[in-house]
Amino acid sequence: MNLFTETLSDGYGQTLSIDELLFEQHTEHQHLIIFQNRFFGRVMALDGIVQTTERDEFIYHEMMVHVPMLAHGKARRVLIIGGGDGGILREVLKHSSVEQVVQVEIDQAVIDLCKTYLPNHSAGAFDDPRVKIHIADGVAFVREAQVETFDVIISDCTDPVGPGEVLFSSEFYQGCQRLLNSNGIFVAQNGVVFMQPDELITTQRRLSPYFHDTRFYTVAVPTYVGGVMALAWGCQDPQAAELDINTLERRYLAAGLNCRYYTPAVHAASFHLPAYIQQLLTKASVSP
Ligand code: SAM
Repeated sequence: MNLFTETLSDGYGQTLSIDELLFEQHTEHQHLIIFQNRFFGRVMALDGIVQTTERDEFIYHEMMVHVPMLAHGKARRVLIIGGGDGGILREVLKHSSVEQVVQVEIDQAVIDLCKTYLPNHSAGAFDDPRVKIHIADGVAFVREAQVETFDVIISDCTDPVGPGEVLFSSEFYQGCQRLLNSNGIFVAQNGVVFMQPDELITTQRRLSPYFHDTRFYTVAVPTYVGGVMALAWGCQDPQAAELDINTLERRYLAAGLNCRYYTPAVHAASFHLPAYIQQLLTKASVSP
């Protein structure tokens, strides 16, 4: 039996059986593999790190999208950085308030191959007339964009190795802050805290100079192994992350969403962090 072993963390990893190899290529930017696994369905990995699977993708994509979108309440213009599999885009387009989505993905091959082998991720989202795709480096886009302003920015990038590293930089966060409207919300995937604690500390230190309210919320995704994943949050208004449950429920119902993971109660609860994560953030607030 062929096995795919992910070794993102030293001395610990996960192994999935490759029951059928569907595609493998060194693209212009990264190694890409898509294979069939008997439990998770089709799996896509980049540079040896699981990015998404058919079976558990809904968990991550619903929490990365509906938490900021329902917290904002009337987002019209959304920027997605990365997200080449199309799952984030699919969920954003479910919000009728959205008039335009700009997506900046560095690797055209990821979009093309995920359309072919993971069609349910984007589910036609790339063809929506509200969508504009840029094939570019996300940090260059947020540095150079001129007239753009957004209500929500979602950074759905790879881990801070290879092409994704720049999307965890101060320059990137400054660029995102510049492109957000005054009540805009920034969110980003920020790794599995128990396995990558330094990633949380670094992001807290790099993000907090640009947003009055920098915090994290969490979600447990089976194939992002090692415990809860932290999702970074930046906003100038602390109230945006502390909406009452009645407001969240009203907005969820009005949006007509039918989620499999997200609920208004899970939204509110996701911002309540276990003690070890709070202790890491306290450590981050002390200068290095
Ligand atoms: N959900 C996954 C996770 O949490 O690890 C991320 C999935 S998505 C496939 C990651 C995307 O980020 C890929 O399509 C990759 O090509 C893209 N990416 C990596 N570095 C980038 C950069 N500097 N600018 C834009 N997109 C980038």
